[in-house]
Parts: sequence; C-alpha cells; structure tokens
Amino acid sequence: GIAVRCQNVVHIYTTLAGHDVVALRGVNLDIAPGEQVALLGPSGSGKSTLLGLFGGLQRASAGKVVVDGIDISRIPESELTRLRAGKVASLLQGARRNLLTYASAAGNVEFARRGLAPADVRELPSPRQLLDLLGLGELTDKPVNAMSGGEQQRVALAVTVSSGAGLLLCDEPTSQLGHADRDTMVDLIQRVNAELGTTVVIVTHDPDIASRIPRRITIRNGRIGSEGVHGRDY
Ligand code: ADP
Ligand code: ADP
Repeated sequence: GIAVRCQNVVHIYTTLAGHDVVALRGVNLDIAPGEQVALLGPSGSGKSTLLGLFGGLQRASAGKVVVDGIDISRIPESELTRLRAGKVASLLQGARRNLLTYASAAGNVEFARRGLAPADVRELPSPRQLLDLLGLGELTDKPVNAMSGGEQQRVALAVTVSSGAGLLLCDEPTSQLGHADRDTMVDLIQRVNAELGTTVVIVTHDPDIASRIPRRITIRNGRIGSEGVHGRDY
C-alpha cells in the first residue's frame, strides 16, 4: 500500500463569475500504507476535493500532498498522468456503466490492462487469480450483461484495482445499491485491502459503511473536525 500525507493543504476554486470558493482550509493528515480511512462530513465540506487531490485530478492551491513519497502538488502534468494511471485507482460513481457489457469479468480485467507493459502484467495475478483472490471467482466467465447491478459494481471495483495500484479512492461507492449489495461491496473493499495491501480512502454519507471502516475522519467546512478510531468518536 501507498502512504498519503497532507501538510497545510488549502484548495480554492475560482468560479466562472470570478468568486473564490475555499474548499479546504489547511488540512493536515497522515495515512499509513495499508490503512482504511473513511472521509465523512456534510455535503460541501470538502471531501471530494480532498479525494481529487489524492488522485491527482486537481492540484492543491497551497500546501503539500505527498503520495508514495512524491509531493504531487509540484510534479509536472505528465507525471501526474502517470500517477493516475499507475499508483492510484479511483472507483467513480457509476463505474459499472463503464464495463464492457458483452465481455466477462475476466475479459474486462484483461481489457483494463491493455495499456500496461507486458513485463508489468506478468508481475500481476492473472484475471482469474485476481477474481478468485477477491472472492469473485463465480463471476470470472459471466458476461457483464447477465450480472445484477451489485455484481457489476463489484466487478467494476476488481477492474479498478486490477492494474496493481497501491491506493484505492472511492467516492460514494455504495450509492445506488440496495442494503445487501452495500454490505457485500464493503466486504470486497476490505478484501482488496487485506489481500492486495491496498491503502483505501472512502468518501461516504452512509453510517453503516463508515462504521465498518477502522479509521474515520470528519471534515467540516474545509477542516478536519474529528477522528474516530475503533468505534469511538471524539
Ligand atoms: P463534498 O465532497 O464534501 O460535498 P466538495 O469537495 O465537493 O465537498 O466541495 C467543497 C466546496 O467546494 C463546496 O463549497 C463546493 O461548492 C465547492 N466546489 C466544489 N467543486 C467546485 C468547483 N468545480 N467550482 C467551484 N466550487 C466548487
Ligand atoms: P458531491 O457532493 O457528490 O461532491 P456535488 O453535487 O457537490 O457532488 O458536485 C458535483 C460537481 O459539481 C462536482 O464536479 C463539483 O466539482 C462541481 N461543483 C460543486 N460545487 C460547485 C460550485 N459551487 N461551482 C461549480 N462547480 C461546482
């Protein structure tokens, strides 16, 4: 897994009308390799912005965002693109709609790896091994269009981590899922963490999801409000 460190991170958006919106107001945070973290807080508090900074989707206006030892607020765009492609995997809302519907789970994993160097692919578990490792073996040869929505979302997660990223970022990974599928999705996220050692950061509004993530960080108005560890909030 990959470590993430934020030092005095400030993020300011400028709207089309020219107004400044301060989304993050000095965030300090350390996430260890292999940790599982939930980001909680009211809508508009800055959770998605922070996740976007970790994933190199945007740059901090000030402060440091250090991912795997690299201060990504200062690297050139080309390196940022490489980071997004290699080290960091983002599970986006509605990711299952990006699957190839006529292909199987294994076919989708293979397709997702098409841009990798053959030498790098050889280091990774095969699609079949990966799906077995994640407890999705029975979906290996099943076409996506024959899967339920929950199954598709689980395959989308497997595809997202299939290139060997050390950091998994999930923004509301369980929205649009029923209760049972939400639970299974969290099982799978924890399996990715346990089997692949992936560091996991999840933005969620769902208290049931949050309660199953060991470290919970609440963001309020662009600042870290409180942390709860192992069921205690203080
Ligand atoms: P959350 O994920 O907690 O809902 P966001 O990170 O999406 O919060 O937003 C934090 C703040 O930044 C909010 O005030 C939001 O309106 C503002 N914001 C987010 N994205 C943009 C943008 N592209 N342009 C301007 N303001 C933005
Ligand atoms: P979420 O709460 O799930 O983060 P939002 O509805 O806040 O989603 O934002 C959806 C999209 O709109 C995001 O891409 C965000 O960057 C953008 N956005 C949010 N607030 C603003 C804003 N005040 N001005 C411009 N874009 C915004």
